[in-house]
Amino acid sequence: MSSVLLTLNAGSSSLKFAVFAAQGDVPLATGLADRIGANGTITLRDGKGDTVPQAGAADVSSHQAALLSILGQLRARLGELDVAAVGHRIVHGGISFVAPTLLDANTLQALEALVPFAPLHQPHNLAGVRAAIAAFPKARQVACFDTAFHRNHPFVNDTFALPRVFYEKGVRRYGFHGLSYEFIASELHRIAPRLAEGRVIVAHLGNGASVCALHHGRSIASTMGFTALDGLPMGTRCGQLDPGVVLYLMDQEKLSAAQISDLLYKHSGLLGLSGLSNDMRELEAAGTPEAAQAIDYFVFRVQREFGAMAAALGGVDAIVFCGGIGENAKAIRARVCERLAWMGVELDHARNSQNALVVSSELSRAQVMVIKTNEELVIARALRGFN
Ligand code: ADP
Repeated sequence: MSSVLLTLNAGSSSLKFAVFAAQGDVPLATGLADRIGANGTITLRDGKGDTVPQAGAADVSSHQAALLSILGQLRARLGELDVAAVGHRIVHGGISFVAPTLLDANTLQALEALVPFAPLHQPHNLAGVRAAIAAFPKARQVACFDTAFHRNHPFVNDTFALPRVFYEKGVRRYGFHGLSYEFIASELHRIAPRLAEGRVIVAHLGNGASVCALHHGRSIASTMGFTALDGLPMGTRCGQLDPGVVLYLMDQEKLSAAQISDLLYKHSGLLGLSGLSNDMRELEAAGTPEAAQAIDYFVFRVQREFGAMAAALGGVDAIVFCGGIGENAKAIRARVCERLAWMGVELDHARNSQNALVVSSELSRAQVMVIKTNEELVIARALRGFN
């Protein structure tokens, strides 16, 4: 029986997973249980990312049922498995969880206490933990936090200008996408160690999107703040917003906190501006004026945040694009870089159109790179640290 490591990313009705052997960076399998609770399905992929056929029907009626179904599918494909450890992507670690943490009754309770900081994500992450404890009671359960990588921000990038009591209560700029940035920092260190020590701007542009400034491989600033709403516009999230807009929505439009939350998280961003879709590919194909304006706004805000991060770093040695848009959307990368000549950026359009690792020209002062992010591998490495 082979001993394996399982990584889990639990959302409200989805469960992303990857299985790793005790050693090695390439997963044995990855996949997704989707629409959990309502006619859900499981997609299973091999280590190369190709979809593989499934063995029989899958029960996806709850997170726990989905986990057991996933295990059944994996066993049919990989043989008898011993899940030695499960690593969980947890959105919020608050002030004190700054590294991967073994989950027990106490740590789980401490993470429950952080639910008010991330009410739309943390409860689902923790439901995934509980389902995994029930499904694999003998396995080590480890939490890996999206906030941890940013916890060393200097005070000016950690605070809001509110009365200090709120900072003490934890109203801070946490920053998110930390597992992705940790991967990019480690990958840069591997492929370009000199650059990795320098001033690097990383743009994680997916359905969620943020920019992070790295110096000596550590995060010093992020566009995301107290919640994953801040900074760039995203698929359905608004990004940076004057807080006065929220007051207006409450006072004049008479929206409740729940309605405003729904508006800002689920109906804004690319979807809200285009009135069409949250998906960049669909917007690029649509050709309506509203879709074009949504893309214009996205590009403009990425450029603006690059400027802000360049100021925070005092210069730029390299830029890295990652996430579904960052890795694949050539036209968006080209448009973002178009107005960064002042920063020493010059794109090589042929390389950019191939999604090459380095997409800047030989003359570019700042190197521009495209790196496929791998949050699952960061979690698997953390699990190995507990062996
Ligand atoms: P998530 O944040 O949910 O993990 P992804 O990182 O997969 O999301 O990013 C999804 C986004 O990437 C979508 O907006 C999708 O349209 C966009 N995307 C993926 N491939 C392309 C492409 N070839 N061109 C433009 N956009 C793309």
